[in-house]
Order: sequence, then C-alpha cells, then structure tokens
Amino acid sequence: MARAWSLHSRPEGMPKHTDFAMIDVAPAALGDGEVRIANRWLSVDPYMRGRMNDVKSYVPPFALGEPMQGGAVGEVIESRADAVPVGTWVQHMGGWRDEAVMPAAQVQRLPDLGVDPQAFLGQLGMPGMTAYFGLLAVAEAKAGDTVFVSAAAGAVGSTVVQIAKAKDMTVIGSAGGADKCDWVRSLGADAVIDYKAGEPLVKALAAAAPKGIDVYFDNVGGDHLDAALAHARPNARFAICGMIDVYNSGEPTKLRYLARLIGNRVRMQGFIVSDHMARAAEFYDDMGAMLKAGTLKREETVHDGLEAMPDAFLGLFTGGNKGKMLVRL
Ligand code: NDP
Repeated sequence: MARAWSLHSRPEGMPKHTDFAMIDVAPAALGDGEVRIANRWLSVDPYMRGRMNDVKSYVPPFALGEPMQGGAVGEVIESRADAVPVGTWVQHMGGWRDEAVMPAAQVQRLPDLGVDPQAFLGQLGMPGMTAYFGLLAVAEAKAGDTVFVSAAAGAVGSTVVQIAKAKDMTVIGSAGGADKCDWVRSLGADAVIDYKAGEPLVKALAAAAPKGIDVYFDNVGGDHLDAALAHARPNARFAICGMIDVYNSGEPTKLRYLARLIGNRVRMQGFIVSDHMARAAEFYDDMGAMLKAGTLKREETVHDGLEAMPDAFLGLFTGGNKGKMLVRL
C-alpha cells in the first residue's frame, strides 16, 4: 500500500505535527498515458505554508484529508506511456508520498547535466530557477551591481549569491547564525550579516554596503525589506521573491523606509517562478556551464524517510536547513 501525507487541519500560525496525517493510498491501475513513480527524493518548500490556508492564491489550497502535492524526484516503475519508459528518472509534483501515479505529460525527464537527481529539486530545479530569473530577469542585476539577498544560506538565497558572484556583482547576504554566515562567505559573498546577532539590520547593512545597494533579492520581508529600502541607491530594483517572516504571522509588516521608493525611483517587483518556465532551457544552459566550470557549490540538509516530512517542512521556519531542505526515501 502506498502512503501519503495529508493536511488534517488548517494551521493557525506556525503549523503543528497534529495538522498533518499519514494516509494509505489504495494502488490504482494505470490508465493510458500514465506512469507509476517510486519517489526517491521529496521537496519541502516555504510556499507550501500558503497552500495550507483556505484562501485564493496563485496555487489552490491543499484539500483536507487528500494527499498533499509538492516537488518530487523518482524512478518510473510502471508505464503506459511510450515516451516515459520504466527506469526513467523524472521530476513531478506528486510529492508528500512514497509512490505517485501521474500522467506522463505532467512529469519531466531529468536533464542530463551529470549531477545527482535531487539537485533538480534545489539548485537546478524550482528554487534555482527562482534565483536565476529573480536576479537576472526581474531585478535586471548586472555586473558591477551591489546585491543584497536575505535567507542567503537557503536554497534560493545560496544560489542567488553564487549566480551574482559568477556574473561579477558585489554580494551581501544575510543569514541566521555564525555557521550559516561562514558558509555564505565561502560561497563568495563579499559581506555577510548575521541577522540574529542583535545589531539592527539597518545599521548592519549600512556597514556592509556603505555606498548602498542596487538590487535587493527579498526572501524574508519585514525588517530585511525595510533595511534594504533604507539603503537603496537611485534606480535600485527589488525582486520580491518571498516573505517568510510573515508566512506564520498575521501581523502587518511595518516599513519605516517605504517612502524612499519615491525619491530614489526604486522599482519593486513581485514574481512567481512559473512566470519564467518558458525560458527553462536558458537556465539549464547557463547553470550547466557554471557547473562544468566548477563555480556552483551545492549543499543539502537531508531528512530520511516519509515520516520525516513534517519535521523537514517545519524546519524551514526555524532555520533548520543549510542549502536545500530535502527528504530522502
Ligand atoms: P530556504 O531554503 O531559504 O529556507 C527557509 C530559510 O528562511 C530558513 O532556513 C531560515 O534561514 C530563513 N527564515 C525562516 N524564517 C525566517 C524569518 N522569520 N526571518 C528571517 N529568515 C527566516 O527556502 P527557499 O530557498 O525554498 O525559499 C526562500 C524564499 O523564497 C521563501 O520566502 C519562499 O517562499 C520564496 N520562494 C518564492 C518563489 C517564487 O516563485 N516567488 C519560489 C521559491 C521560493 P535562517 O537560519 O538564515 O533564518
């Protein structure tokens, strides 16, 4: 019998283990054009917190009592689709479970870049594309720019740091704790702010970027966004990728420096990675070249076993990961 995690109740604030329930999924016979996949790696991502609320958003909410969805990589073990035979490694959205039945049209063969398959859930997958297009297409960052990125030790942030360095930008990252900050520095960041060290962010960023910033890649919102506004140079571009600081809080964000947008002609643009999927080939070409050149470092925080999914997910909100948070089956 296959097993899957379902949402048992809609969390209020920080989710609890009792909001999740493991359910058995009866084996279904394959229809024409479908494949059965043994999942080997499952992704947990901060955006999943939004799907736990019963509100209209860019992705529908998780249905209570049904298998949840999420990024997964696995091996096809049964196929009724000629294009995706048994033995093919694929990525797809039938995560939070050990086995998935999917239409072949909704799975993607893993590109042949000579990397571990789980990389396609992180640096070479959705978080990597978010970093790449958020930085280069949304923020239009270019050589010579000074870039500030929050959650810089996470999946998206650590990739932003490395792409920005590979493209000759100055990078300031922020992360929680000395160990993560050391790691971000080892990725090439020119300066790193430990936002948990107690110094107000506005002050810490003034010291790290005395001439101000041209680009802010926002993963956090709140005080990080406010500090970035305080130090935005004329015509700065802000790519608003995520605001993890507010995902579990109903509190309104206070931005004391918001009015700086006006005089400094700052452009602030939210985006969703799927806006850029049509350009995936460009991403794989460029990242593939960086991989070959040895300029990309990859880090993963791995939990083992399907049972670990809620722990891995909750860890995203308490800083439990360096690089991409994954569950290995
Ligand atoms: P990460 O791998 O960065 O994991 C989350 C990290 O965020 C934690 O490890 C923690 O690191 C940090 N964090 C958690 N809570 C807070 C807080 N209150 N204040 C500051 N930092 C906090 O996740 P991802 O790389 O997958 O995602 C990063 C951001 O990008 C998220 O906001 C996510 O929603 C967004 N995103 C947006 C997409 C889009 O299409 N717009 C697509 C993918 C991701 P630390 O220990 O440093 O605090």
